[in-house]
Amino acid sequence: QSGEERRGFEAEVAKLLRLMVDSVYSEREVFLRELISNAADACDKLRYEALTQPDLTRDDPDFAITVEVDKDAATIRVSDNGIGMNRTEMREHLGTIAKSGTEAFAKQLTGDAAKDVSLIGQFGVGFYASFMVADRVRVISRRAGEQAAQEWESDGHGDYAIRNAERAGRGTDVILHLKDDAREFLDTTKLDDIVRTYSGHIPVPVTIREAGAEDAASVSQGTALWTRPKGDIADEEYTEFYRHVGGGFDEPAWTIHYKAEGMIEYTVLLFVPSMRPMDLFDPARKPRVKLYVRRVYITDDTAELLPGWLRFLRGVIDSEDLPLNISREMLQNNPVVRRMRKAITNKALTELERLADKQPETFAKIWEQFGPVLKEGLYEDADRREQLLKLARFRTTKRDGWVSLADYVAAMKDKQSAIYYVTGEDEAAVARQPQLEGFKARDVEVLLLSDPVDDFWLQVATDFEGKPFKSITRGGSDLKDLGDAPAGDDAEPVADDKLDALIARLKAALGDTVTDVRRSDRLTETPACLVADDAGMDLHLERMLKAHQQ
Ligand code: ADP
Ligand code: MG
Repeated sequence: QSGEERRGFEAEVAKLLRLMVDSVYSEREVFLRELISNAADACDKLRYEALTQPDLTRDDPDFAITVEVDKDAATIRVSDNGIGMNRTEMREHLGTIAKSGTEAFAKQLTGDAAKDVSLIGQFGVGFYASFMVADRVRVISRRAGEQAAQEWESDGHGDYAIRNAERAGRGTDVILHLKDDAREFLDTTKLDDIVRTYSGHIPVPVTIREAGAEDAASVSQGTALWTRPKGDIADEEYTEFYRHVGGGFDEPAWTIHYKAEGMIEYTVLLFVPSMRPMDLFDPARKPRVKLYVRRVYITDDTAELLPGWLRFLRGVIDSEDLPLNISREMLQNNPVVRRMRKAITNKALTELERLADKQPETFAKIWEQFGPVLKEGLYEDADRREQLLKLARFRTTKRDGWVSLADYVAAMKDKQSAIYYVTGEDEAAVARQPQLEGFKARDVEVLLLSDPVDDFWLQVATDFEGKPFKSITRGGSDLKDLGDAPAGDDAEPVADDKLDALIARLKAALGDTVTDVRRSDRLTETPACLVADDAGMDLHLERMLKAHQQ
């Protein structure tokens, strides 16, 4: 065979492969989920390309995935008639690290096998999972619309080869030559179980058969899960689908599934992950749900469909109204898309409100993971600010756990008119602020804010239900109005003239570096602290901006 090239794996891949090759991971069967998931993605991608190039699928219009077992050869072949790969794509996708999840995984590798193996379940490792069960993997692929096919082959040790090959039509075969200790996967009943567990609800039918045998078992009909009525869907089915569509390996913390009927029609199946997705704080802040139009996958570049501050949601939105040939670019100015975005955002928020009300513990877990992202909405989306302030939960000086603003306001002191807060780098630093002392002494609750986004939304959110937000580092938060602090044992008042003399000396010593030196009610233990001017910026914000040279 001609055209053979050999290449080394990228260093990170090589590291990951070493772990796969000597795998002691007990749930090796996930290799099949990964391969079927890739096959389904390949079908989705071609379905989309065929919208504008119908010739690509004319000779073979029905998408299908087949898992074929050959007991004599000890191989499993996973075939699809999806988009396929050409030589360049093979080099790019099967020798380097393609997806951010796998990259994050590779970065976390410690070299300690036991630790690293436990990460497989948390991240998933895509195609490379094949090497947990196979000591030789071949991929024969032909890109839709192209004539040439090629074969990729590797034993997972250091390098791979690509050479010219034959394939009757478009698509991909992944052929696993099973390790001796992985022969259990030659049992079709077992494979059947695995496919039902992990891949029963992907929108492409899956068939399992034995090489040479006439009959084949159709494991899954390829009915898209989101089209089925909610009441008929078991939790495990949702979880399995979440893992396919969202690329996560955790359980969904919460599921929103509904069909909107009316002026515009669409189905929404969205999941809140229980763990933070790896790309959560990527600068692009892109939402990653999948847009379908009448069951046809269009794109997962869905910045138009959800605001950035809901980017932790994973799942599917399937529209009945958008044109099938809508391009990713056309999404930007489409009035139907705009209306969907508004309605879906609204629904997500009202559902979260309902959850916060009915299942506060579930909601608290979600807030713990995604509160910092939701709070970006306070800053960005004035229209949603009120709703988001209702949802927001905070740590405070007086209570354990998460406190809502409504709870805070209900517990305010008689003479208290503002919602007091302090911001800082992290929870510990915030709780140590000397300015807190005067508030603590007067039993006034203070919100402890330590997410970077807090300084930003507090610049634009002025109040909650008429109660202004006020930083305790601002000079104006005068404690006198809040009553006297209970006197301590050794609280011997300092004579005014002595204090005046001290202030005069401090002013002289500090000169222009401060605006003023004042007697304060805010401290009970610390002798002195810095405060911001009433008209000036909050101290922590000022430090942050300075650090960013603004
Ligand atoms: P991911 O699926 O998250 O991108 P994988 O490691 O599972 O990561 O796959 C890497 C890449 O290899 C895919 O993104 C895709 O481009 C390519 N690929 C894998 N399997 C197939 C297939 N059956 N058909 C076409 N391309 C595939
Ligand atoms: Mg994959």
